[in-house]
Amino acid sequence: MRVKIEEIQGLEPLTVSEAIKPETMAEYLADAGGFSLARATPLTVTFKRVSGRVLVRGGFVGNFSVPCKRCLSDETIEVPVDFSLRMVEEARRSEEDDAQAGEGAGGGTGRRKKRTKQQKKDDDGEAEIAASFELDEIDAEPFDGKTIDLDPIVREQVLLALPVAVVCREDCKGLCTVCGQNLNESDCGHAGKKEVDVRLAKLKDIKLKN
Ligand SMILES: [Zn+2]
Ligand SMILES: [Zn+2]
Repeated sequence: MRVKIEEIQGLEPLTVSEAIKPETMAEYLADAGGFSLARATPLTVTFKRVSGRVLVRGGFVGNFSVPCKRCLSDETIEVPVDFSLRMVEEARRSEEDDAQAGEGAGGGTGRRKKRTKQQKKDDDGEAEIAASFELDEIDAEPFDGKTIDLDPIVREQVLLALPVAVVCREDCKGLCTVCGQNLNESDCGHAGKKEVDVRLAKLKDIKLKN
């Protein structure tokens, strides 16, 4: 989802709602350890201008399929994904950096823009650290001042919202390490015995002829 800042009229909040495309979510979940989206409510996001920043609040509720960590059975979990963050124009932030560095309001807008790009190239890391010292901007995300692209934001929020591991139930017995039987369904009798690799167990029965 992309929103042009000019669509946000004055101080009126702008609310946008959009279905999450399955292929977009599949991309988000590529490295998420087996999660896939079963279904989701539309992503609804409200944008509001507040003193040069844009407040972004939004979310959706997703139903995700994921294998149980122990027995690998398919589970579906409901995960609310909610986020609230402030976007700050990149140029504005570096202007503030300039002011702090004591360079004052010297050059025109053109020069500043040029510097922003150069600065980003030169000392990306340092600029980031410097910005993090500014309490006010600690949780502010930079954007180009024209368009807010929600894709990377939603991706990050989805990955943060998903649990690290899912089990089908607290006392899931998992799979037998000897024969692979789902121990929640039946007991194969291997439990408690010394764990033997099934392939090695077969080797034990082979009798050599000489
Ligand atoms: Zn399980
Ligand atoms: Zn077994």
